[in-house]
Amino acid sequence: MKTDRKKILIIYTGGTIGMIRTSKGYAPEKEKFHQLLDAIPELKAEEMPAWDVVDMDPLLDSSNITVHEWNAIGAMIAEHYEAYDGFVVLHGTDTMAYTASALSFTLRNNRKPVILTGSQIPLCEIRTDARDNLITAMMVASDDRVHEVCLYFGGKLLRGNRSIKYSADDLIAFESPDFPPLAEAGIEIRYNTSLLLPPGEGAFSLQTLQNVPIGVIKVFPGIQFELFDSIMTERLKGIVIETFGAGNIPGDADRVLPIVRKASENGTIIIVCSQCPHGTVMLGAYETSATLKKAGAVSGYDITTEAAVAKLYYLFSSGLSGEEIRRRMEQNLRGEISV
Ligand code: ASP
Repeated sequence: MKTDRKKILIIYTGGTIGMIRTSKGYAPEKEKFHQLLDAIPELKAEEMPAWDVVDMDPLLDSSNITVHEWNAIGAMIAEHYEAYDGFVVLHGTDTMAYTASALSFTLRNNRKPVILTGSQIPLCEIRTDARDNLITAMMVASDDRVHEVCLYFGGKLLRGNRSIKYSADDLIAFESPDFPPLAEAGIEIRYNTSLLLPPGEGAFSLQTLQNVPIGVIKVFPGIQFELFDSIMTERLKGIVIETFGAGNIPGDADRVLPIVRKASENGTIIIVCSQCPHGTVMLGAYETSATLKKAGAVSGYDITTEAAVAKLYYLFSSGLSGEEIRRRMEQNLRGEISV
């Protein structure tokens, strides 16, 4: 037995990967999943890291994940941070990109690989994609070059806070449209080493998140902004607006401006993202986006909606002033935007 064998902690949160067929449809099942894991011979190979598994309680379909579970996953990593070389988080695919984004912010000064993965077909099924996703994620989690939160799925290692779930049924289900893959797993795992983040420099710590009231609005032709007037109260802390193209919204300034301005005056932070998966917001490039800028909205540049939501939770939970939150929304904190 090699003495330099790495140690990985697998955190099982639920999702399709560990689900079995029940009379009510697929549902997570703890004991059966542990048996299936134990029966994968590759996980016991000498080239593989040693590993332990902890389960989140209860196991969830990831559609039910909230800030509470992000805190619980973060706490499991923080509790075992020094004892393990890396972490693999098994997670449902539906909200995996949100969780990866959230952990990228909450794990401050991270220097260890935290790799989220799951599968489109459960481990108990013959054509499962779980085995490759898990085995390769374990290998990435034991690689000394990786110091960040990533998502591994279908042969691609993506920066967690750049990823989006792109397909509901393909086995290559995730993309990171504005950032190249950190690695691609073909015959070998080929890393794009120049893109990897450096290790965190200070002491590692976990920022716990609060369930801050935030909203996401997707604009569409004919949207009646007046209808949103009633939700623009002081209670609403942040809004992610998914705009057209480079940050454009429909409607003339006279209708839109008062509502956006009211939100800004209430202290609500408005972050402008694009509905286009690829490309960046450029506030002020067109008259239709200059309105948003004038009213005090901040640019999300090429941030994904998933990362924008997670970043808002993170900044509001960090005890910063509104001004500071607005400033940091436009700054690159963990490789989530290209500025
Ligand atoms: N609904 C499942 C989940 O996100 C889908 C999956 O895991 O693929 O938990």
